[in-house]
Amino acid sequence: MPELPDIAAYLYALERRILGANLEAVRLGTPFLLRSVKPPLVETHGRKVARLRRIGKRIAIGLEPGYWLVLHLMIAGRLHWHKQPPKLSKRVIASFDFSTGSLSLTEAGSKKRASLHVVESEKELIGLDPGGLEVMEADLFAFKAALTAQNHTLKRALTDPHIFSGIGNAYSDEILHRAKLSPIALTSKLTPAQIQGLFEAVRLTIEEWTARFIGEAQDTFPEHVTAFREGMAVHGRYGEPCPRCGTKVQRIRYADNETNYCPTCQTGGRLLADRALSRLLREDWPRTLDELEAIKRP
Ligand SMILES: [Zn+2]
Repeated sequence: MPELPDIAAYLYALERRILGANLEAVRLGTPFLLRSVKPPLVETHGRKVARLRRIGKRIAIGLEPGYWLVLHLMIAGRLHWHKQPPKLSKRVIASFDFSTGSLSLTEAGSKKRASLHVVESEKELIGLDPGGLEVMEADLFAFKAALTAQNHTLKRALTDPHIFSGIGNAYSDEILHRAKLSPIALTSKLTPAQIQGLFEAVRLTIEEWTARFIGEAQDTFPEHVTAFREGMAVHGRYGEPCPRCGTKVQRIRYADNETNYCPTCQTGGRLLADRALSRLLREDWPRTLDELEAIKRP
């Protein structure tokens, strides 16, 4: 699922291409993409792009005078840029045709989870925000308050969009490795030093990857957004050596996903039984990542 650094790069690339441009039409390959009823999509046609924003893991395109198109890519949705309006197909499920070019949305796989909302006020826009803390704008005090408000495993707390904004499965693995903390450590059991270390790890990890992707988006549209990046320490690197200590990276499978960690750096050298850990993480989890993403704010 595209996370904060990926979304930041998409927004950066879009600002250079569509800010000030006219939205000529939105074409949908499937009616199921659109999850809102009012205002009708056609009302957005012919309007100028006034602003762009990130709302959690969503991309919000602001149109004059106060409309917003809000896209959630979920796990398999990706954006692409075209000079000419592309043809819709099974894979190309929407095209946003601007006066400067077209933005298409593709979604791989049979489970179509990506969504589009059209809203016409700031209030409705905020209503789509799961409400997690924007860590890059927060201080240690606010971070600690969000982290410890409920007792969860660290993996769950970091990836829950109601607790923290924009962090998902990939960057939480990288953050925990950097902070040398176990994914199954409980938030209520952390020392002040561990919380501070985690706060710094979140900020450094997000900052570094965002800077890298924005750098890459200087010249080209981010066409190759993936959760598995060259240079990641543990995420997607099961069985490969930890770049810090050389120990083989391990995994814990839970729900429909897995978390990767280095036992030497993160769990005191313990190779914890996969099944017991899976159970622990699963009990701290909705059934799927999609469900975690879709839970409404209480
Ligand atoms: Zn290590």
